Amino acid sequence: MTAADVLVEALSRGLPGDRLVVDPDALAAISHDDAEWAPAERAAVGVRARSEAEVQHVVRTCAELGTPIVPRGAGTGLSGGANAVGGCVMLDLSQMNQVLEIDADNLVAVVQPGAINNDVKAAVAEHGLWYPPDPASAPWSTIGGNVATNAGGLCCLKYGVTRDYVLGLRAVVGGPVAYGDVVRLGRRTTKGVAGLDLVSLFVGSEGTLGVVTEVTLRLRPARLGTPRTVVGAFADLVTAGQAVAEITRRGLIPAALELLDRACLKAVEDWKHLGIEADAEGLLLARIDTPGDSGAAEAADVAAAMAAAGPMWVEQSTDDAEAEALFDARRLAYPAFERLGPVLTEDVCVPRSKVPVMLEQIKAIAARHGVQIATVAHAGDGNLHPLLVTPPGDEEARRAAQAAFEEFLDAAIALGGTVTGEHGVGILKRDGMRRELDPGSLALQSAVRSTLDPLQIFNPGKG
Ligand SMILES: Cc1cc2nc3c(=O)[nH]c(=O)nc-3n(C[C@H](O)[C@H](O)[C@H](O)COP(=O)(O)OP(=O)(O)OC[C@H]3O[C@@H](n4cnc5c(N)ncnc54)[C@H](O)[C@@H]3O)c2cc1C
Repeated sequence: MTAADVLVEALSRGLPGDRLVVDPDALAAISHDDAEWAPAERAAVGVRARSEAEVQHVVRTCAELGTPIVPRGAGTGLSGGANAVGGCVMLDLSQMNQVLEIDADNLVAVVQPGAINNDVKAAVAEHGLWYPPDPASAPWSTIGGNVATNAGGLCCLKYGVTRDYVLGLRAVVGGPVAYGDVVRLGRRTTKGVAGLDLVSLFVGSEGTLGVVTEVTLRLRPARLGTPRTVVGAFADLVTAGQAVAEITRRGLIPAALELLDRACLKAVEDWKHLGIEADAEGLLLARIDTPGDSGAAEAADVAAAMAAAGPMWVEQSTDDAEAEALFDARRLAYPAFERLGPVLTEDVCVPRSKVPVMLEQIKAIAARHGVQIATVAHAGDGNLHPLLVTPPGDEEARRAAQAAFEEFLDAAIALGGTVTGEHGVGILKRDGMRRELDPGSLALQSAVRSTLDPLQIFNPGKG
């Protein structure tokens, strides 16, 4: 019997047969995320878990056999975090997708990890509530994946990231407790300081500390009224970056402040025909959701700050459909480029005042390496996503893009920024993270990981 046969037999002792994925094509399909450039090894088997008890069985079995476990939500990750490690179990949580409870009195929801972000939003909206974190992948990505990557999104400028909405978790862990035990972390009250903040430790841990099986989310009341949109068109991206810095300097905090370059607009338009004409190198989209007169004043202030940076034009959109089409274009930028060839997505984040300098450096680095880039950005957060697209099969272009990618990281670190604002370390940012963090911080991280997972079976080699 091979090691894989032993593993499959041990897993099937505690799981219905339909939970196992052994067909090579089906297994390959769940063995990587959306980071096309991150290498994936060969998994031994997949498990489509339907309950916490099934997750426990998987973790106990893997601990006994020393088999790595790679948790997976929807596989929309952009860092290789959900890519198979040789001989691993791919633990697919996407079928644990129920919204278990909506407690409207206390603005809390309890969901399974495979619940899709937009489905959670829709479910709580029926109770007049709102779950704000909105990664552009919200139609597909899961709450478990969002928690494990501490996903950001368009509205986190004003409303914060996933971590700000996770009150509590259940997770199947190992280490100081037996492998396969369930721990309940956090709380469901608004405040609470009993013990160390282990919830925050798990949020963003990319599946390296255990498997999240339930999440207690903080909600907000639904927003009222139609948001206002201010659009600025710029002759170059650096000027658009100066507008971002000016908006920040004036203390304005729109609900979203996104940047798209001409290449992105064209790629989306060629694909979706949204009717957007790109007459500028960069478009800055600001969304203001403050209701009433205060919102009108805020929109006017944002428009004035954009105007101060020297745009081609600035407009407050009065056409909701047109404004929505622009935000759709922003959300669709990545898949639009994926159609054209392998895309390497950067995710650097710099202090907001440094956005113009970082955009200048991105341009210079790309030119030096002769690589084509298109840029989208959660610009208001300083979180920039230059997309490096290379022709399929062109190894030289790929090497040049890889070199530029690493230089973007060094430039961000030198500006006081970070190598990943929201996509996570996964495989693609492991070296970059080591360049960014000081040795003491890396030593603490490694100590935490070896205490919570001494067998090193939870997503090893990631983060
Ligand atoms: C078009 C597009 C747009 C995107 N836009 C954004 C954006 O605006 N903001 C943003 O932050 N990201 C964005 N992303 C990246 C991605 O969607 C997020 O990282 C998302 O949080 C991943 O969720 P997922 O369910 O697909 O997780 P996966 O890709 O399946 O997994 C991500 C990580 O989480 C771990 N994991 C998953 N489930 C669990 C669990 N239950 N327990 C423990 N670990 C787990 C995996 O091991 C892996 O390390 C985008 C991706 C795409 C394709």
